[in-house]
Amino acid sequence: MDKQQEYVLRAIEERDIRFIRLWFTDVLGILKSVAIAPAELEGAFEEGIGFDGSAIEGLARVYEADMVARPDPSTFQVLPWRGDHHGVARMFCDVLTPAGESARSDPRNVLKRTLEKAGDLGFTFYTHPEIEFYLFEQCDDDQAPLVPVDTAGYFDHVARGSGHDFRRRAITLLESMGISVEFSHHEAGPGQNEIDLRYADALSTADNLMTFRTVVKEVALQQGLMATFMPKPMIDAPGSGMHTHMSLFEGESNAFHDPAGEYQLSGTGRSFIAGLLRHSHEITAVTNQFVNSYKRLWGGGEAPSYVCWGHNNRSALVRVPMYKPDKGQSSRVEYRALDSAANPYLAYSVILAAGLKGIEEGYELPEEASDNVWALSPAERRALGIAPLPGSLSHALDIMESSELVAETLGEDVFEFFVRNKHQEWETYRAQVTPFERQRFIPAL
Ligand code: GLU
Ligand code: MG
Ligand code: MG
Repeated sequence: MDKQQEYVLRAIEERDIRFIRLWFTDVLGILKSVAIAPAELEGAFEEGIGFDGSAIEGLARVYEADMVARPDPSTFQVLPWRGDHHGVARMFCDVLTPAGESARSDPRNVLKRTLEKAGDLGFTFYTHPEIEFYLFEQCDDDQAPLVPVDTAGYFDHVARGSGHDFRRRAITLLESMGISVEFSHHEAGPGQNEIDLRYADALSTADNLMTFRTVVKEVALQQGLMATFMPKPMIDAPGSGMHTHMSLFEGESNAFHDPAGEYQLSGTGRSFIAGLLRHSHEITAVTNQFVNSYKRLWGGGEAPSYVCWGHNNRSALVRVPMYKPDKGQSSRVEYRALDSAANPYLAYSVILAAGLKGIEEGYELPEEASDNVWALSPAERRALGIAPLPGSLSHALDIMESSELVAETLGEDVFEFFVRNKHQEWETYRAQVTPFERQRFIPAL
């Protein structure tokens, strides 16, 4: 047993932990959990805990269903909302085959493989997500209109607002689990909030995001509210994005930084952005994986709809934020397509792969968009070479299906499962006859 495993076993005894939850994520980004007793933990570290992989979306086919979850001791945390007495802790797991090999279908493994590829090129990938979500009054009737908890807007201070208490409680819990929060504020929509996590390596960020979603939902329930990360819950209010700031480090130094470069951005940073832009159509099905995601991308509210980059331009897909002249290490790029319902392991994998491709192939960065691209006419955008992102899940899947970059990054199993699952979602959606159609076409037609 290694030092970290020993530390976990000791912590469990000292802190009166009675249940250990083993967490992993299915291919769609839904958290899965199995609880074990402390006595089982030594065995779990050595051999893992067996489960039926075919019952989890995308992990295994029925004829090779046995899988094993082995906890990663470096992710051990006590769940603070479960109290100190007879407490509950959790660890993220790596999913293995019965032969003890990493399962290629495990999203965490997909990200680890992509990070290794970055490592082979000398890079560590850091990410800082800005997570937007809505708080609604609790309601069991899925036909009833959603009622946001307030009517406030961007950066509003809501006196004694439930959002305020909510953020304080959620952030306190996150911090006590070792997840640092950098900013939080009310977002533009009624009941919409944003919480930004501090920079961390992308694997920690992805684990933190899974924890974040759990904590936010938990605190909402405790306060009699409902939190949702659905990309576009209301037709006339902005959607919930998960813009992510990114940088590559070579050892201690930020590879995106060059004091002499335009916006202090290095050639590596420019090629990374060029990779994001060139492959953005291919990766959109992964960064925006639900039929509802496209309602956000095409529903206004400052979501990006067109493929271009800009310095501080919020209509651009990739933004190079304001830099602090004395702080070279803060050079970064922000990718704005991702929504809050993405599977963070897979989304960060395809984004990183696109950026690395730009670096490896030395892609040239096109000219930046200095206008508000939403306000341009289609002809003006065409003249500037600014293409739209896919308009629907179906469109995004068609593009993804012929993407070598995405197939290679996700691996055959995840790629095939994802495409199949998402086509099914699209077909079920397409078969709906919606209230919109009823109102629009009857009695006129
Ligand atoms: N809610 C917007 C989106 O869907 C982003 C607003 C902002 O710039 O923070 O992407
Ligand atoms: Mg925001
Ligand atoms: Mg942002």
